[in-house]
Amino acid sequence: MITSFEQLKRYFSNDIGIDLGTANTLVYVSGKGIVLNEPSVVAVNQKTGQVVAVGSDAKKMLGRTPGHIIAIRPLVDGVISDFEVTEEMITYLLNKAQKNNKKLLGPRVVVGVPSGVTNVETRAVRDATKNAGASEVYIVEEPMAAAIGIRLPVLEPVGNMVIDIGGGTSEIGVISLSGLVLNKSLRVAGDELTEAVINFARSKYSLLLGESTAEEVKIAVGSAYPLKREKEDQPLQTVVRGRSLETGLPKSLKFTSIEVREALMPVIHQILFELTLIIEETPPEIVSDILEKGLVMAGGGSLIRGLDKLISEETGMPVWVTENPMEAVVRGCARVLEDDKLL
Ligand code: ADP
Ligand code: MG
Repeated sequence: MITSFEQLKRYFSNDIGIDLGTANTLVYVSGKGIVLNEPSVVAVNQKTGQVVAVGSDAKKMLGRTPGHIIAIRPLVDGVISDFEVTEEMITYLLNKAQKNNKKLLGPRVVVGVPSGVTNVETRAVRDATKNAGASEVYIVEEPMAAAIGIRLPVLEPVGNMVIDIGGGTSEIGVISLSGLVLNKSLRVAGDELTEAVINFARSKYSLLLGESTAEEVKIAVGSAYPLKREKEDQPLQTVVRGRSLETGLPKSLKFTSIEVREALMPVIHQILFELTLIIEETPPEIVSDILEKGLVMAGGGSLIRGLDKLISEETGMPVWVTENPMEAVVRGCARVLEDDKLL
């Protein structure tokens, strides 16, 4: 039975959460769950300015496009301020998410954006979402959305701390009483870790790796803390295919978890350094809350083996990785619409 105006609105329109990540975009439709999970890539025809493909179709085009078509990652390359591309991308996502289930009114949409985006970019996202057919639009900063998605008690007067390591940015947030007490959006995250693998292969083995290959290596054997099996002389290994810079021909090699970790460590230390700076700035009462409850990790980058252990050791705080870390932000966006207090 419909008993309130809010419920009535829900009857006539969909509630949708969108995580506009630098690497992956997720869409959650209330009552259905996550209906879309695609790379944040848009292919644009430069002659006409039209969007030719979005998501996985566009990702396949990265590095393979004819001259006049370019595949871009809008949030990393900063083109989010390009209004038309943003609007077309959001229109595409909303249409696909509501396929066969359009309601009388446009959907109510909550969009999570990196906390470092400018006002102009935030406005572009808001206007683009409206133009794409939304009846109401709310923008949430990612560290807050992640904390809500993890179900941390963000409304209460206790300190919570989250680090969401994505592709292009790592978002650090200290939250209490439904506000971000401190936050930082670093431009150092998963992409830099992938880049570190590329540089390592080039300088140590004169092997040229493509970006997706390097990312696969990172995921297959990447770590931030010595693995138990390495002590037994059983490091993780992976076969890597690239091109020899000496002969120009294809070449395969084996990489071990030990050497890949060495390559990743400088980037990991940069993230750790920024994290400790934020902890130093955090008011003592909140630090003591976090010491008790722990620092929570989210985002794809939190899946690097042993990163939680390393951060815990270096900061002296308990650290845990949330369940399904890559879904925290979109779940948080969706929860905002389900709970009027959060909205
Ligand atoms: P964003 O929110 O910026 O879109 P995501 O949270 O989706 O980013 O995370 C994407 C990043 O996580 C990519 O750099 C990807 O390589 C990395 N990643 C995904 N899975 C793993 C894994 N198992 N181990 C290490 N890195 C991972
Ligand atoms: Mg993210």
